[in-house]
Amino acid sequence: MGVATRINKSVAESRVNTINVNGKSILTPCYFPSVSSCTTMYSTRDLTKLLCQHSKPLLTSAYDLYAESTDGASLDIQEGNLSSNILLLDSGRYESSWYKDTSWTFERYRDVVQQTPCDFYTSFDVFPGDVQDNFEQETINQIRQSFDFQRDNICIPILHLTTDDTLFSTLDVITKDGFQFVALPERELGDTILERCIKMCQIRQFLDSKNSNVLIHVLGCGHPVSLLYYIFAGADTFDSLDWQKVVFDSSDLSFRDYSHLLLAKCPCCYCRNDALPYVHKVYLHNLLFIKQFLNDIILSIRNDTFETFLKRYITPPILTG
Ligand SMILES: [Zn+2]
Repeated sequence: MGVATRINKSVAESRVNTINVNGKSILTPCYFPSVSSCTTMYSTRDLTKLLCQHSKPLLTSAYDLYAESTDGASLDIQEGNLSSNILLLDSGRYESSWYKDTSWTFERYRDVVQQTPCDFYTSFDVFPGDVQDNFEQETINQIRQSFDFQRDNICIPILHLTTDDTLFSTLDVITKDGFQFVALPERELGDTILERCIKMCQIRQFLDSKNSNVLIHVLGCGHPVSLLYYIFAGADTFDSLDWQKVVFDSSDLSFRDYSHLLLAKCPCCYCRNDALPYVHKVYLHNLLFIKQFLNDIILSIRNDTFETFLKRYITPPILTG
């Protein structure tokens, strides 16, 4: 199939949803700041506690909770008001791959999910290199096993992309099984932002054709411009580690170097607070920016002005109509 060079505005799929879980709710599109031992000097528990006070929702890794655990893997729900926050527990395969730790098994992941008061948890994902053949069936098996052991909270199946046939066939099974969510790694959607955006449109339209309101989560995506593209194409939620690694610049939605907060000339309350350690300034500035940015997006979708909002930052040829 040839790659289209343009996305006609008539296919715009941007939408606002309310997710209700465990008596709590969040509006989408939304962003889960991720906590991972691969990128932070803090313990997962300490950073999660800090995040709790400044972001709702948030994501943490089952692997890190297990690795840092001395008394079982549970995360204390009283800490940092986690009980009133919304927590997505990731499978931990990112961290176990990073550390080349082959001892991270489905059973250990299952134990952590069952002991942790999360609202969402991802399936224990299967990488294409993990299986010799029938990747699709093995993916579906793992998703169903992940769903089976925890029915109170929402299981988000992770799909790794190989061929289109495998992707859409697996999505078909997921919709028939009644899943409410699916997660896809951003980098596997294509090489360029245009390819990725077109793939996202195809996935959204496929799910809609099944009369399914399945929410789409994009794993590892935090660039504000990318968020705009994927929301335009029908994605709903995102997570990434970027909020710890760079400075978000609201003037042009760019990423600046971690050390460049002063150069962004931001007037927010955290940037003006000289009592804060620099690292906290960066974190809190980024979290505030992304929260306000997504609020503005939700408002513009509801007011039917999202396209105008988009065009402040995105220029043709990618958006034409
Ligand atoms: Zn700021």
